[in-house]
Amino acid sequence: MTYGSNHALPESELQPINCLYAQWTCLVCGGMEEIASDEEAPVPPICPSCHRLAVAEALAALRGVRR
Ligand SMILES: [Zn+2]
Repeated sequence: MTYGSNHALPESELQPINCLYAQWTCLVCGGMEEIASDEEAPVPPICPSCHRLAVAEALAALRGVRR
């Protein structure tokens, strides 16, 4: 056994710098969003501006139903 001689990581373990950030795509507008890799993309993946729009639309719909 060559214990200790295989200390270096294999090349496949080397990650590009973007491992600090994760990317996800908004379902609504298709926009690319970046988050820190220790955060998680929202589920469903909808960016803040589309989310605000969806909330506004939902509220408007609610108001429309309750006359
Ligand atoms: Zn969006």
